[in-house]
Amino acid sequence: MIYMQRIYPTSLTPEQYAEQEHHRQVPAPENCPNCNRAHSLEALCYYHRYISTATALVLWIWVRRFWCRHCRITVSCLPAFAQPYRVVNTPAVEAGFNGETTRAEVRRWELLIEEYWCRFEAHLPVLLRQVGNAFGPVPLQPTARGFWRQLLERCGDLAQATCQLIHQFHTCLFGTYRCHQRRQLQSG
Ligand SMILES: [Zn+2]
Repeated sequence: MIYMQRIYPTSLTPEQYAEQEHHRQVPAPENCPNCNRAHSLEALCYYHRYISTATALVLWIWVRRFWCRHCRITVSCLPAFAQPYRVVNTPAVEAGFNGETTRAEVRRWELLIEEYWCRFEAHLPVLLRQVGNAFGPVPLQPTARGFWRQLLERCGDLAQATCQLIHQFHTCLFGTYRCHQRRQLQSG
């Protein structure tokens, strides 16, 4: 089954999301991200994944999934505090990328956050080809640091930047994944 991922905008922390069982209240996206049909998504089920929290705990959360009646893909709605395929939560990644090394969360996940930065640097040429100058002019010799600053200036924070990258440009900071691409309609 074809699977697509969307970011669900929310200001909840991972702890609040889990405590409130908020996954049960995640609304279906208005339009299917694949075929763009309105009101075609129906609740399907959940899947689970891990996410870091402000404490030493790693939480197990449920992510809402929908199913498109029209093109038959499934769509999962990843809460904005989570990055695709990364365990460290979005605000901690952002703080780490900003060099806030006094934050306990950043120190705790230092090695992973460094690895994420390396992935971001490696993905940068492809990323810039996909976004062009949507977040600001692309310099002759672009750097990850420079693009990171532009991204935050334009979007405000990493959660909103990720939303734009995925929904508009079908990529994210760490790679271009199949689950962010549109597919052909399923026949039959
Ligand atoms: Zn669809």
